[in-house]
Amino acid sequence: MNLPEFIVKNGYYEGCTSNFEDSRIVLVGAGFDGTSSYRSGSRFAPIALRSETILAQENYSPYFERDLADRKIHDMGDVEIAFGNNQETLRRIESASRFIVDSGKIPFFVGGEHLITLPAIKPVLQKYPDLHIVQLDAHLDLIDELFGERISHGTVMHRIYDLLGEPGRIYQIGIRSGSPEEYVFARANTRLFPFQTTGFTEHLHELGGKPVYLTIDLDVFDPSLIPGTGTPEAGGIFFQEFIQFLKEIENLQIVGADMVELAPQIDSTNASTIVASKILRELLVMI
Ligand code: MN
Ligand code: MN
Repeated sequence: MNLPEFIVKNGYYEGCTSNFEDSRIVLVGAGFDGTSSYRSGSRFAPIALRSETILAQENYSPYFERDLADRKIHDMGDVEIAFGNNQETLRRIESASRFIVDSGKIPFFVGGEHLITLPAIKPVLQKYPDLHIVQLDAHLDLIDELFGERISHGTVMHRIYDLLGEPGRIYQIGIRSGSPEEYVFARANTRLFPFQTTGFTEHLHELGGKPVYLTIDLDVFDPSLIPGTGTPEAGGIFFQEFIQFLKEIENLQIVGADMVELAPQIDSTNASTIVASKILRELLVMI
């Protein structure tokens, strides 16, 4: 099988299989940060995360008692960003996702900013029309237009809502930031679980048997844990709560996922990247 021509190899994630055909989950980097409105730099996340996993050599999850190497995960490489041409970049991300979905595998995108979720999700939604979205984020991302632009990291969940075409299919968890208009929209059209992951648990059964796309905006975590992100927001969740959350959603039918908004160079200690690599590992062994 030939990879799309815009896929470039930038090292490898430790613990991944080199074999695309035998894999179940396909990792792909989408280091796009072209609409970041505050602190850009998430374009560097896929390469920084790969380097971190190679240095750390820690594939075993003590939380799930599973090893990444046994999970049939393939690192396909990165979508080459068409700098200055956002439309072309988004088209490439969508084709990469379609390539993975058409191969019968689960796409896992490593951003980049949150806008990458829009093109990543489209082929998944085409395959699973009843797709539900679980979003961990500090922000609602439900703005309709940001500076006159409808396609942006601050509008991404609104655009995904438009694709779904009906209310109640986006679960927004850990939210603690948004405009009054976004909160009005959320209360009417999405499922809102502010501040924590805990309130969500009693609604888990609603997602039983449904295909789920999981999107993790790393700013859902407290800025003391991950300061290296584009739009940090005080009062976030911590690692243990996240692990608890993953254990609760373990039986969901996850058909696509992403982890976005790590901006490695903002955090000179590199701890944000180190923590994010563990978050990524736990996500991958959970799915
Ligand atoms: Mn977001
Ligand atoms: Mn956010």
